Amino acid sequence: MKFIADGMLGKLARWLRLAGHDVVYIGDSKMPPEQQDDALVKRAKLERRILLTSDLALHRRALKRGARSTFIKSADVVSQLVETSRRVGQRIEIVPENSRCPMCNGSLRAASRQDVGGLVPETVLKAQREFWQCVKCKKIYWHGKHWKTIIEMASRYNQIAR
Ligand SMILES: [Zn+2]
Repeated sequence: MKFIADGMLGKLARWLRLAGHDVVYIGDSKMPPEQQDDALVKRAKLERRILLTSDLALHRRALKRGARSTFIKSADVVSQLVETSRRVGQRIEIVPENSRCPMCNGSLRAASRQDVGGLVPETVLKAQREFWQCVKCKKIYWHGKHWKTIIEMASRYNQIAR
């Protein structure tokens, strides 16, 4: 699924990327806030993305202009994921192997030790066998602390979503 998230939902945007969804986060752009609402609705329509917003007025405007929009009420990101999943009528699975880069929305591809040599700390290079690299921003990921956070998050989410 393709989404576009408003400036308040950066955390949700990153988690949806980790769940493998293509999410544009308007907060990543340097656009002044007063121009963001209009840009969100335009881009949602143009790229057929579901708008995720915590602003009820914006949600209503988007629907009026023919965009698909989902109003997010919760403040906690796990509840926001559950809300998103229910509103769009599709289960969101957090599978680390299917992740997109949480920082920039790029795709991740498997990388070998040789690929990442010199780019990650020596200790990490020795301890890890599998690496992933973002094709867009080149950031490297591995089964470290980051992975544990994903797995913990996924289990909290799965308990609520069930
Ligand atoms: Zn990236």
